[in-house]
Amino acid sequence: MGSIGLAATTPPHDDRGMDVLGPVDTSRGLTTEQARAGLASHGPNVLPTAERPGLGFRLLRELREPMALLLVVAAGLSGLLLGEVVDAVAILVIVVVNATIALVLEGRAERALESLQTLEAPTATVVRDGVRRVIDAAELVPDDLVVLQAGDRVPADLVVLHSDGVEVDEAVLTGESLPVPKVVGGRTDTAAAGDRDGLLHSGTMVTRGGALGQVRATGRATALGAIAQQLRDVRSEPTPLQRQLDGLTRRLGTAAVVIAATAFGLALVVVDGLGVEGAFLTAVALSVAAVPEGLAAVTTVALALGVGRMAERGAIVRRLSAVETLGATDVLVIDKTGTVTENRMQLTAVIGYDGTVWDAAVAPTHVLDAVRPVLLLCNDATIEPPTGDPTERALLDLTTVAELDTIRGRHPRLGVAPFDSDRKRMSTMHLLDGTRTVLVKGAPESVLPLGIAVLDTGTGSTRPLDDAGREVLASAADGLAAGGQRVLALARREAGGVPTDIASLERGLTIVGLVALRDPPRASAAGSVAAIRSAGMSLVMATGDHPGTATAVAAEIGLGHGPAMTGAALRAEGVPADPLVVRIYARVDPDQKLAIVSALQEGGHTVAMTGDGVNDAPALRRADIGVALGETGSDVAREVADLVVTDDDLATIVAAVREGRGIHDNIRKVIDYLVTSNFAEVMIVIGSLLLVPALGVPLFPLQLLWINLLTDGLPALALGVDPVDPALMGRPPRRADHRLLDRPHLRVLGERAAVLAVVALGTLWVALEVLGMRAAEARTVLFSTVVLSQVMLAFVVRRSIGPVHGESNRWLWWSAAGSLAAQAFVMVVPTARTVFDTVPLSADGWVLLGVGGLIGPGILAARAAWVRRRLRRSGPPTG
Ligand code: ATP
Repeated sequence: MGSIGLAATTPPHDDRGMDVLGPVDTSRGLTTEQARAGLASHGPNVLPTAERPGLGFRLLRELREPMALLLVVAAGLSGLLLGEVVDAVAILVIVVVNATIALVLEGRAERALESLQTLEAPTATVVRDGVRRVIDAAELVPDDLVVLQAGDRVPADLVVLHSDGVEVDEAVLTGESLPVPKVVGGRTDTAAAGDRDGLLHSGTMVTRGGALGQVRATGRATALGAIAQQLRDVRSEPTPLQRQLDGLTRRLGTAAVVIAATAFGLALVVVDGLGVEGAFLTAVALSVAAVPEGLAAVTTVALALGVGRMAERGAIVRRLSAVETLGATDVLVIDKTGTVTENRMQLTAVIGYDGTVWDAAVAPTHVLDAVRPVLLLCNDATIEPPTGDPTERALLDLTTVAELDTIRGRHPRLGVAPFDSDRKRMSTMHLLDGTRTVLVKGAPESVLPLGIAVLDTGTGSTRPLDDAGREVLASAADGLAAGGQRVLALARREAGGVPTDIASLERGLTIVGLVALRDPPRASAAGSVAAIRSAGMSLVMATGDHPGTATAVAAEIGLGHGPAMTGAALRAEGVPADPLVVRIYARVDPDQKLAIVSALQEGGHTVAMTGDGVNDAPALRRADIGVALGETGSDVAREVADLVVTDDDLATIVAAVREGRGIHDNIRKVIDYLVTSNFAEVMIVIGSLLLVPALGVPLFPLQLLWINLLTDGLPALALGVDPVDPALMGRPPRRADHRLLDRPHLRVLGERAAVLAVVALGTLWVALEVLGMRAAEARTVLFSTVVLSQVMLAFVVRRSIGPVHGESNRWLWWSAAGSLAAQAFVMVVPTARTVFDTVPLSADGWVLLGVGGLIGPGILAARAAWVRRRLRRSGPPTG
């Protein structure tokens, strides 16, 4: 980011106080020693964070969940009323194990999310030891001098020492969204405009101009700190998916009550001697089995881990729901600079007054001398340390640190009209040869019309510039732009009288030359464009740059060939009804980007858009996914964005989309798995009560809870962290209105559950009727059949959503092995057998449970393969 700052290494000459920001004595900045002392006494400049409740409290909070409470009541009943002390204790153990799993999952998710915030530590530009430095904003201390420019977030409460027409958006504090002008020491020019305290408040945004301020308060001592203190416990908003899941859990909870009542009635009527207490206990266990309690926790973990992976890859999610939206994104509106280009510009050519193009390295001295003052002075970048935006840094290519220091020291800046992407130019004022002079640089379309003369570098005299002369320069600029280069026109004029507003002096200019900069496309750009295409997404480039430059770069990266639609054409004709008919929009203003995004959304598209400037903020906010560029982006852009891409690279956005789709898939797997297996358990118990009443209760309460623990726990979690399907980016995006839990899908899950239930009941029938087993043995066979089939179901669900050929999920294998080993344990270890009411099985029993446990998942796997084949023939799935 460029900055209106003090020169990096301010030379010790007399007028150093008259640096860029006017009469500011930089020796007033702190020394490193003072800053260290300040940090020790005031603490770091950070806001108070929420304190995490203690472990005991959190465990109690888990136990307060309705299902946990129900089980505790059930345990109490079975212990006190039925005298089943072992059962009661076992139930309580299960409750605590369940609560602990939930606790660990939530802790994991919370930590993953917390660590994201630290990745994005804001910085501040300060003057320390008389030198401008960029530091971690947490290290700011009272009395530090801070340099601010448009786009920055104010890092602490500051007193304004110098203002270049600075205006701030104080909406975070006041709710007032109109920018407020701020003046030195609290003086305002007019009583009505502006604020009188002359303070820049922490957390507010600089929307225009620049300022130098001195820190008055940091961290919790700031106005924002006081608010943060009050808001500490506000929890982040649930995502649409989480809300859907809450809804589902509630609906299933209601269903569970109905199911429990049915089971209670049935058990009471059909099972002799069970009694009210026994029937009640069965009903409670069944309702617990019916509700997928693990769903919310596993989903949160899947989201949080995915967000963590995205962060490692350089994509920082600022709003959790963005992860879901990413998977549905079907149009990407990107800018050019940085996103598909390296954003490492090089000065390649200088163009003389008559249109002659010189290679920058070998241009004649008189040509270079003419452009040098504008290149070096109308420029906020520095060489050592390298700061400033890439365009301005490139303009320093032909100079040295010493020369830059000398010329900037000799010609202090008296004022500035900063660059912004609406004006597309920047001007500064200096004392040159004893005369106040305005230097201007900017896009040729922005600067050439303001020119009335050119500098003939050969003779050193000026000549009038007429339309024909302008045409010569413009076509030289167009020629270079068509080759993908960025061209800037450079100009100057003597200011005369006392300037009030530099922008008002930007006319009657003498053009001193043009320069061309080359920003090569990123090596990864063509691959990213191809990946976006094959993922069924559309790509649109909307850039502030010249149409020639934009089309040349677009062609190079395979985005397509022009023509580009320009901002002027957009203004005249409006945004096309289908904005996708144009692939390249060039020389567009930020508000035109907003119009393009809105038109796309009205056409039903889910739009992700990249942006970096302050002015991009409205469009970023409007887009379904606002992507801020971390490297070049302003704090304002980052603040409103849903996603921050730290390396500005399009490839990182593609990776984020892939991750978003993967997370969505995994959550689908978890939902499918839990809902199917829980439906199946209910069907088995009720089915058995209806069909084989003589058996009594088919699965004892403790057995039901055990099944629930084994399947809702580890296998579900393993599905939540499944590796991403390699074929994922070969599918079109899911429809934005696609809901994970709509009726048709729930019906499919119901059918799958029915298959599992029918097979399990068939197994029970074979045990009792064909093999003539005792009730206890048949029950043990059923119990284990259900566990085996549900463990295998996890693999089927995984394959029915993908990946088929991808990496295997070792977590799933481990969790399957763990669950089966635990089941074997309760079948063969005598003490466990007593607790879980199992009996030793005959050889027949083992074979039957093996066959019975595999048939159901086998049928579902065959069905999934058949659906896949059919879909492949009729086009890719969209779910
Ligand atoms: P994108 O929208 O893809 O990021 P961009 O960086 O070219 O493209 P802007 O930053 O809005 O878009 O720049 C628009 C034009 O303004 C540039 O093409 C250039 O001619 C001019 N320009 C860019 N930076 C400066 C600057 N620091 N000073 C003066 N003019 C500039």
